[in-house]
Amino acid sequence: MRILFLSSEVAPFSKTGGLGDVSGALPWALSERGHDVRVMTPLHRGVPRATLQLVGSPLTLEFPFGKIDLRLFRAPAPGELLFIDAPALFDRDEYYGYPDDARRFAAFSMAALAFTQRDGFVPDVVQGNDWPTGIAMLALRTGFAHTPLGRARRVFTIHNLAYQGLFPAKEMEALGLPWDLFTPGGVEFYEQLSFMKAGLVFADLLTTVSPTYAREIQTPAFGAGLDGLLRHRADSLHGILNGVDVKEWNPATDVFLPRQFTSTELAGRTLCRKELIASCRIDAPVPGMPLFGVIGRMAAQKGADLLHVALPKLLEQGASAIVLGAGEPAVQDAWLSLAAKYPRRLSVRIGFDNSLAHRIEAGSDFFLMPSRFEPCGLSQMYSLLYGAVPVVHGVGGLKDTVFDLTHANANGIVFEQPTAEALFGALVRAVELFRDEAAYAAVQRRGMTADFSWAAAAAEYERLFGLPSPRPSPPRGEGGTG
Ligand code: ADP
Repeated sequence: MRILFLSSEVAPFSKTGGLGDVSGALPWALSERGHDVRVMTPLHRGVPRATLQLVGSPLTLEFPFGKIDLRLFRAPAPGELLFIDAPALFDRDEYYGYPDDARRFAAFSMAALAFTQRDGFVPDVVQGNDWPTGIAMLALRTGFAHTPLGRARRVFTIHNLAYQGLFPAKEMEALGLPWDLFTPGGVEFYEQLSFMKAGLVFADLLTTVSPTYAREIQTPAFGAGLDGLLRHRADSLHGILNGVDVKEWNPATDVFLPRQFTSTELAGRTLCRKELIASCRIDAPVPGMPLFGVIGRMAAQKGADLLHVALPKLLEQGASAIVLGAGEPAVQDAWLSLAAKYPRRLSVRIGFDNSLAHRIEAGSDFFLMPSRFEPCGLSQMYSLLYGAVPVVHGVGGLKDTVFDLTHANANGIVFEQPTAEALFGALVRAVELFRDEAAYAAVQRRGMTADFSWAAAAAEYERLFGLPSPRPSPPRGEGGTG
């Protein structure tokens, strides 16, 4: 199959979270299975340009809001990775969060399709990922419908339904979208333009990144206002668990670690723990108390508020913790003030630091991930493979990958309610497990020997791409949720 894969971030070149990791691995797992895969992504500031090669001549796209000059660049490796260069739109400090995001990502989607058409690549499948690529799904079904590209199967993958790309209705005109699409059955979401809906409504097949999240987003509690539409499209919606890029995340080969280790040779892990504690300038936990690790975007989603209540009690008993993340200022500030209260026990690093992320996975005794919702979650899978026993809220992909001590195949600790009390209970159980060395080692080993390779996930995508798609019936015109 010829597959065109569109994403607003692709690791290791650009990444704010799991979307970047997936986009840097799934396409290459598909090409290893023999498919002809092209990945297209914006050329953000910070992507190293020295080795990029210009592909063909520049292109200009005209939108009602203005003209955009574009160039296409090819990266030398690992596969056919193409960067769309539009300095006016993408040469910026951040990837998202600008007033002209609708124009930036609509232009990205349209440019990707236009360059693909120009180069004569005729995909069998176009896979879009999250709201920044929603307009590509719409365009394939409208403006490109009668071109070779219009025959491609449209697959839209939800990595996080909470980020929807909502814009003022007047952007319809700026982008040149016909007003007859601005309905609850189209791209309208409570009087705003929704890029996420453009993907959900106009794709043939929908996927998301874990089986549990695929079910959850069809309920009001997790549907972020789109559960009605997702129930309507339930026959086309599939949950496929993400894999782990084991070239990047493997403790036996990890270049960021002071010493590598495996599930049967853990001496290196002890050294990683020591080095981590020393480099973060905190005290080691008192005997019998563990070192906790936390990595993640500092957003309400990740449940930091629960940690802020539950963790201090453990710190007071002599546990230590290392936290890495960046994001919402209120969450960052709350972490920093907690660290100021426990300077010897808690280290908080604000920022994006891939090396430290690897070293936290390799050195912590437990990895804490009390997310209120979690589409898949990659960090808990890295934790399993690195022997940092995960403590998670049993939701979304966390539920699909971490199994509580009460299960025969236990690899971590799972709590059911997103409350500080339930998290505290889980932390107490973690300490009990930690004090039973044999039991802790057994749980740790089970996680370290799990198989999360992308090959299995890629095979599932491949099967799905080949399935006849249930064509969506005409959307209903009820309410704002479509
Ligand atoms: P999400 O996609 O919701 O951010 P995931 O767990 O799926 O969460 O993926 C998070 C990815 O981003 C992991 O690879 C994690 O190591 C990385 N990450 C998150 N925050 C940071 C940070 N501050 N520094 C380095 N890596 C980070």
